[in-house]
Amino acid sequence: MEAILFDMDGIILEGPRTDPQVYADATEYALAELDVDPSPEQREDFRRFDTGVIADRAAAHGIDPDEFWKLRDDRASALTHERVRTGKRDAYNDIEALYELANRTTIALVTNNRHRTAEFVEEHFEFGFETVRGRDPSMDGYRRRKPNPAYLEATLDELCVDAGLYVGDSGVDIIAGYNAGLETAFVRRPHNRSTELPSEPTYELDSLTELLDLLEASNSQ
Ligand SMILES: [Mg+2]
Repeated sequence: MEAILFDMDGIILEGPRTDPQVYADATEYALAELDVDPSPEQREDFRRFDTGVIADRAAAHGIDPDEFWKLRDDRASALTHERVRTGKRDAYNDIEALYELANRTTIALVTNNRHRTAEFVEEHFEFGFETVRGRDPSMDGYRRRKPNPAYLEATLDELCVDAGLYVGDSGVDIIAGYNAGLETAFVRRPHNRSTELPSEPTYELDSLTELLDLLEASNSQ
């Protein structure tokens, strides 16, 4: 196995995604920075991740939607990093396996979450990821997220490998991994116990530690 690529939310950081309150707080911050004061209903729209809605609302308030988007993403990153540092958002116990995997093969991180947060996770935990990639803090970056395989493909290019395994906790991970030409591993966590997948993953795992055996088996083939 030339490389193992990991999803972040639900694989390393506990829970399937960023807490909605983080984005609510980040939205308030961005609106204040841009000096606009929308109605409660309009604020709800500004919290959303619908690029069309954000573009409409931004135009109505005379602000640049991309500037709003970046301010919100950057603030959400800062808030998330604080939550991880203070233990408000935990990591899974089985991430210990990543340190050993990094000794044995190339590992990388590819997430739909923000790029800055992907960088933070490597800085904080020092897993030994060869590279990390999250979505760019822009509406364009958001549109390229999984199930689009773009970020996975860019990572494979950067690593100069064309085969490997993508490890994720959701259906979009399995689709994106497959479309990038990778084998896929679906990890069962408390939040996805009964998730039905859109297509069959190559492997289904209960713990990241099982990757050590998978790697050994694939290397001895
Ligand atoms: Mg995930």
